Amino acid sequence: MEDCLFCKIIDGTIPSKKVYEDDLCLAFNDQKPLAPTHILVVPKKHLASAVEITDDDAMLIGHIFGVISLLTQIFGVSDGFRVVTNCGAKAGQTVQHLHFHVLAGKELGSFN
Ligand code: AMP
Ligand code: ZN
Repeated sequence: MEDCLFCKIIDGTIPSKKVYEDDLCLAFNDQKPLAPTHILVVPKKHLASAVEITDDDAMLIGHIFGVISLLTQIFGVSDGFRVVTNCGAKAGQTVQHLHFHVLAGKELGSFN
């Protein structure tokens, strides 16, 4: 997808601090971390947000959550982490390529 920041990170046009990569997804450190551990996990397939996920993506999304689980173990935060995907401008989405924030390493307040 042209002019998509995360597609450019995936194809290497824009550098990132990569922490994991496989055929289906890439994970890299967020450039403005909101917690000591703040990783973004993105599918290599361009989907604008969670709104575009369909049944065809079931394996991909399951795989990504498996990678998230693996990363939290590698980073030593599997006992407490949060996964967030902002969907739409009203929810604070600024990059229009589906991504999962993995946040950990500090006390994360409850939403409710
Ligand atoms: P969101 O606001 O949910 O769309 O999240 C986008 C995230 O991407 C933000 O947390 C940004 O700090 C992060 N971000 C933007 N550009 C880059 C980049 N070049 N490398 C790493 N993280 C980035
Ligand atoms: Zn993209």
